[in-house]
Amino acid sequence: MTRGHASASATAANADRQASERRVDASPLRALPEVSHLAYIALGANLADPLAQVRAAATALASLPASRLLSVSSLYRTAPVGIRGQSDFINAVAALATGLGALQLLDALFAIERLFGRHREYLNAPRTLDLDLLLYDDALIDSPRLRVPHPRMHLRAFVIAPLLEIAPQASIPGRGQAAAWLPAVSMQRIARLPD
Ligand code: AMP
Repeated sequence: MTRGHASASATAANADRQASERRVDASPLRALPEVSHLAYIALGANLADPLAQVRAAATALASLPASRLLSVSSLYRTAPVGIRGQSDFINAVAALATGLGALQLLDALFAIERLFGRHREYLNAPRTLDLDLLLYDDALIDSPRLRVPHPRMHLRAFVIAPLLEIAPQASIPGRGQAAAWLPAVSMQRIARLPD
């Protein structure tokens, strides 16, 4: 249930323009895939040099098949959610134009997590790398393996702030403008790191 390709391409073009205004276009010579969807992905890590993990994960996203990395937000240092006593997280959000289907993309994200040595020990456990699919065009997906929009994205400052940095007009299907959720997350500790 994604919107038409023309609209997806237009959105991708917008994100592309934003990317060139910012600083990341990891594959300038790679053409957009023929069938292009616009996906937003959350990156997070709080173990084993998380800054390096998140930066390397962005590079791994740029290498996904039939995909092109359009932009990556600044890195943010954020308070851990759920478990007390964990280290702070490093978070970012990336925009990806991709010819992969949503489930193919989820599997590709799992593969990158595995590459980075992610262990799924328990809910909200510390992790070397966590990748979440936030948005996929304006799709609403509710399947056993995948829920899009990510069901908790609107309640997390570490998603909303970096998402708005690279896509100020982003909307969350079923929940309205992402910017409208800023007040709801304003009490959560988050600091943008200098470039
Ligand atoms: P986590 O351990 O928090 O990364 O959660 C991963 C689990 O959530 C996996 O079993 C996924 O199949 C499931 N999941 C459902 N929707 C999503 C999504 N939008 N992005 C990432 N994982 C998802």
